[in-house]
Amino acid sequence: MFRAFLEDIFLFFRSVVGVADKGGEIPLSFIPQEIIDEIIARNDIESVVKEYVQLDKKSGSNMFGLCPFHSENTPSFSVNTAKNFFYCFGCHAGGNVIKFIQMIENLTFPDAVLFLAKRVGIEVELNDDPEVRKKHNYYKQMSACLLDAARFFYKSFIDPGAKHVKYYLLRQRKLSAQVLTTFGVGYAPDSWDSLSKYLYAKGYSEPMLIELGLTRRSRQGTRYDFFRNRIMFPVFDHLGRLIAFGGRTLGDDEAKYINSPDSRIYSKGNCLYALNFARKEKGAFLILCEGYMDTISLYENGFKNTVAGLGTALTPNQARLLGQYTKKIILAYDSDPAGQNAVLKAIPLLEKEQIECKVLVMPEGSDPDDYIHNYGKERFSALLDNALPALDFRLLLAKNKASTPQGSVNILVYQDLATDILSGVANAVVRELYSDRLAKDIRVSPASIMEVVEKKRSREYAERPKKERSPIPRRKKSFVLEESAIAYLAALVEDNSIVYDAAEEVKASDFQEEIRSLIEELLSSAKKGELTFPKLLNYLEKADSTLGLKERILPYFSKIRNQAMRSTKDFADEALRGLRISRLEEEKNTILQKLEGETSQEIQTELLHKVNSINLTITKIRNEAGNE
Ligand SMILES: [Zn+2]
Repeated sequence: MFRAFLEDIFLFFRSVVGVADKGGEIPLSFIPQEIIDEIIARNDIESVVKEYVQLDKKSGSNMFGLCPFHSENTPSFSVNTAKNFFYCFGCHAGGNVIKFIQMIENLTFPDAVLFLAKRVGIEVELNDDPEVRKKHNYYKQMSACLLDAARFFYKSFIDPGAKHVKYYLLRQRKLSAQVLTTFGVGYAPDSWDSLSKYLYAKGYSEPMLIELGLTRRSRQGTRYDFFRNRIMFPVFDHLGRLIAFGGRTLGDDEAKYINSPDSRIYSKGNCLYALNFARKEKGAFLILCEGYMDTISLYENGFKNTVAGLGTALTPNQARLLGQYTKKIILAYDSDPAGQNAVLKAIPLLEKEQIECKVLVMPEGSDPDDYIHNYGKERFSALLDNALPALDFRLLLAKNKASTPQGSVNILVYQDLATDILSGVANAVVRELYSDRLAKDIRVSPASIMEVVEKKRSREYAERPKKERSPIPRRKKSFVLEESAIAYLAALVEDNSIVYDAAEEVKASDFQEEIRSLIEELLSSAKKGELTFPKLLNYLEKADSTLGLKERILPYFSKIRNQAMRSTKDFADEALRGLRISRLEEEKNTILQKLEGETSQEIQTELLHKVNSINLTITKIRNEAGNE
């Protein structure tokens, strides 16, 4: 079974050229459009979908099945085998094969492309820059080196000399051989340099072994293994690529756990343990715990929606990563002061990502692994059901802090701590609700608690710097890129010369204000005939990545190519008309707003004239479209 695991990751390494940036993701700009096209062409949508959905009923070139994206009893999910797309008549999900993989595997666009490349064994070629290529070859070797190390750890694990390790994991920790295989658990033997020797003999350079944290050099200059006599946990990124190791001691080392240092392919603050498994679980929430053993033990007991940090306090980047997969998290940290502090620090980071947090409350001093080991999975499941909302948890800690070891609560201290917490709650209804509850708890009138909370709130409010205080936080106006802008850009990349074809010169001012400087650059690049798809992607990377343009532009290329009757120019003209109409509508709305506050009849008439003439222009543009 381990072989299958190795083969699986090996296959994956073969298809992945390198792990470009820390955290693993390959920028899409490295993948030329031709390769993306080939990946789409070779991944026949019917066979891809059939790996997830049973398709049968056929009508014309449509196959039907039960939609995997919403729950239904009669099939409304269709795959069009002639046009290579899927569409659900129920929930309106639809798109090409990449979109399907994005949705069903919960992946970003570049990751879905890589996933499909792997599926058909396409090597994703990099651009020809020799520097980039060199860098990526090095990353590739680093990956291979980690994989060889994982093999070494596994061989040591199944060696008769490691019987005690197996006894510990299988008997004492009650883990199954299967789950150990799934997680690739291994053993670093109790030897000074056996791994270093093994990898060195395979031709990996010492600087690489040192960067990966597998080898160290003593002051006397002797080479030695960093991980010795430890249970080894391979760390995979969200796509299942091996990027690091964690090791748990079997001896009496001071450090119970040690971890690979950050390297060019690993940054612990950007990754989460077991996210490669958990992201596939489509449950309502993820469980966030502290350690490898907790995660594996929960997985073994059916809680596969579990991830863990990697030996650091939760970082903002990890919170962001979690936010991509879930909007609800149950924190299952160790029930000791260190764990509780870590929870208190993690909550605001998660809430900043709009993730709803709950906290698992376990008996003092236990961790999820112990708990499930001692009480079983049903009781653990009940704990999950009863997890406390973040605010309740903070109040509970305040109460504990105000209590004597004998359990009597100092009401004044508790009241002070609790009202501090409540005064920081932004929602007035929530403040009142909890004030009420606190009042009952310490048997005073709700009004008096409310008064303290609001007083503290206004004091806090006054002390805060002015900028933060404005009652309605000034947000950037949310900005969605228009479809016609995307369509025009696709046409422009397809044929640079259309920049000259329009009846009137295309100007940056035809586009939404937010992207005008980007458009200037693109237009001038097209005028030189230099605007290619990779170049467009480079421009987009520099611009605001939240536009989601990369994902949205691709379907337009096939649209342009598939329209037999019309030229790219016609396509571009239509997009331009759309853009110009949008600008006119914007102008009209501004005038109408002015009109509302205007009292002078003269100016009113003037403004109305303007509105009229804009309406006429819009109609004219629409008619032009009709005449084609
Ligand atoms: Zn559906």
